[in-house]
Amino acid sequence: MAQVQPVLELTGVSVAYETPKGPVQAVNRVNLTVMPNEIVGLVGESGSGKSTMAYAIMRLLRGNAGVTEGAIRVLGEDIYGMDPKTLKKFRWNKMAMVFQSAMSALNPVLTVEMQIIDTLRVHKPEMSRAEAQRRAGDLLDLVRIERKRLRSYPHELSGGMRQRVVVAIAVALEPDLVIMDEPTTALDVVVQRSILDEIQAIQAQKQFSILFISHDFSLVSELASRVAIMYAGRIVEIARGDSLSLGRRHHPYTEGLLRAIPELTADDVVIEGIPGHPPDLVNLPSGCAFHPRCSAVMDICRTVRPEPIVAGETLMECHLFTKQEVSESGS
Ligand code: ATP
Ligand code: SF4
Repeated sequence: MAQVQPVLELTGVSVAYETPKGPVQAVNRVNLTVMPNEIVGLVGESGSGKSTMAYAIMRLLRGNAGVTEGAIRVLGEDIYGMDPKTLKKFRWNKMAMVFQSAMSALNPVLTVEMQIIDTLRVHKPEMSRAEAQRRAGDLLDLVRIERKRLRSYPHELSGGMRQRVVVAIAVALEPDLVIMDEPTTALDVVVQRSILDEIQAIQAQKQFSILFISHDFSLVSELASRVAIMYAGRIVEIARGDSLSLGRRHHPYTEGLLRAIPELTADDVVIEGIPGHPPDLVNLPSGCAFHPRCSAVMDICRTVRPEPIVAGETLMECHLFTKQEVSESGS
């Protein structure tokens, strides 16, 4: 049987920010694949490296940031081996990104229609203006915004509508991969929920892959078939979305994040945060970087970094687990 090619493949990817204190290891030898039509979540506390990884995939790192090792392939193509012209064609046509803030992603002096038409015609110059106009209307239908809003400027739209427009622009060229970096964080819970439902519906209709970044575990586990959990620049676990509950065995950091989700149905809501703070990424703790905060820490954890154990589509990086245990929980 022919092997299915991943849409996104990260192999041993590290990203560092050069600072006067030394390199900040924001992404540390990460391996991750996203398969066609798959939604993969990426969660972790603030500062764990999620956005840095997203920018690295899009080859949008700037200034003091750079990929220091590893390879990033999208549809089998090495993103860092491409000349700028090929990269320009690749972005938006094959891979697109929805950024955290819709306001900064949209141009304040262009109407919604102009923004969509511009994106379409810059990346598909052969498309006629009439065709682009028709597509702009269809795209608003897709994200459930009335067509009369085509004439609106971003400041005339609610936050939820602006974020829907950004989603419409990201999927305008029917890319194979869309990276969504906290796309609903700035919105209230009801609007968040409706946008997520729409994202799911659009993904099911258009059939593309999503890397969905969030610090909100409950949201990601509902949406994603697999969830990658990031701590201090490393992916410490990749679990199936439907396995993410406190009754199952997980990485101690994952369990800490799960305990931090408020139980809405409980009478007495007790949220246990993870004690301690994320480490300094210039001077990572020896051994397992989570060891100063881990309630299950053992002697070996302080000196030996656990190797990732890969079992099928899941991964575990913790001395508490054997290959057999990871295989059994991932099967
Ligand atoms: P958040 O959820 O808050 O966006 P994140 O998980 O996306 O966090 P990143 O924004 O990728 O994390 O940051 C990863 C690490 O890199 C953090 O420790 C951050 O302080 C550091 N960092 C980010 N930008 C720079 C920079 N320009 N120079 C130095 N360090 C940086
Ligand atoms: Fe905790 Fe050790 Fe596992 Fe790290 S390797 S998460 S310190 S048990």
